[in-house]
Amino acid sequence: MLGKVFRAFLLLSLLALTVESSAPSSEEEDSSSEKDSEEHAKGSPHGHWTYTDQDSWSVAFEHCKGKSQSPINIDTRKALFDPMLPEIVLEGYDLSDTKSLKLQNNGHTLQLSLPNTLRIVRGFDTVFIAAQLHFHWGTKEDPGSEHTIDNVHFPAEIHVVHYNSKYANLSEAASKADGLAVLGAFIGIGLHENENYENILSVLKDVSIEETDTEIPGFNVRHLLPPNLQRFYRYNGSLTTPPCFQTVNWTIFNDTIRVSRKQLAALEDTLKAEHNELLSKNFRAPQLLFGRDVQSSFRAEVSGSGSQPSGTGRSGGNSRSIGEENGNQGGFSRGDILAIAFGALFVVTLIAFIVYMVHQRKKFSRFTKDSRQNVIYKPATKEEA
Ligand SMILES: [Zn+2]
Repeated sequence: MLGKVFRAFLLLSLLALTVESSAPSSEEEDSSSEKDSEEHAKGSPHGHWTYTDQDSWSVAFEHCKGKSQSPINIDTRKALFDPMLPEIVLEGYDLSDTKSLKLQNNGHTLQLSLPNTLRIVRGFDTVFIAAQLHFHWGTKEDPGSEHTIDNVHFPAEIHVVHYNSKYANLSEAASKADGLAVLGAFIGIGLHENENYENILSVLKDVSIEETDTEIPGFNVRHLLPPNLQRFYRYNGSLTTPPCFQTVNWTIFNDTIRVSRKQLAALEDTLKAEHNELLSKNFRAPQLLFGRDVQSSFRAEVSGSGSQPSGTGRSGGNSRSIGEENGNQGGFSRGDILAIAFGALFVVTLIAFIVYMVHQRKKFSRFTKDSRQNVIYKPATKEEA
């Protein structure tokens, strides 16, 4: 009986292992980072740059080979929790629809100009004034955020660029050590259309050609960022495009903002860059840290499974984010649950095996005793006759 049970367990374990190895691994799916280096363009004319020749940016723009470049990969295990990081407080972000904003396709990104009434009033030593916001994205196949979390790209990323109020304007501040503060957030895919993003995405066709712009009515720009601004990463870095000035105090929010699949597709498929080519994959590869620290305003939750965000960047998975829509609760991904289930199955199988072996051993010792008895009492068989 126990032998049968053991064999059944063994069979189940084998079956389970087969299922696990055929299930797609989230890490395998996301091998898209740092691949653009394959396409080396020759040296660009001074002042002109493209995303396909980013390895040669530093030829014409010396800051691009500095040691405080952006974007970076954020290793959540190495981020230093700093309880003293002040909360970000925004002011003036809720714009009236009577105000009109310029939306532009500048050939590198989709950019929305912001009035100087939008400000970060707390979070830094001085007030920072908003100048513009823009986006980085990939394609349907390759998620295109610039920053990565534990080497995972998200589908897209929004940057809200602010300059230090002690300077007259963005261009004056851009080259100053304390000049810029950029708020960055990851854009993932959700089930529903994001109405706030529709303010911008609904007019994409009007700016599909490079160097065109349009005017859109004001709206609450705050809503383009995640609801929770209290959980973020902070580090010193640079502009992620030439001239790569190392003057940006970066804030990357932990929580992901979501748009619908259709909305993301509009961003990926509508805009044209030079030579009428599709404007996509406008993200720079992660840069080396060179000893820089990344602080976090929150303590990373410890899950039993390491710190890898769940799923791929494409599904917007980040196991520490609130408002998950991919059925991933309590910090456990499908992979984690499978691993735990198979681990448990293995332990049960092992116990069954040990019990089986002990049982067999007892049986064997009884058998040897019996055979000895057989020998001893052999003559007794005659009684049967
Ligand atoms: Zn940017």
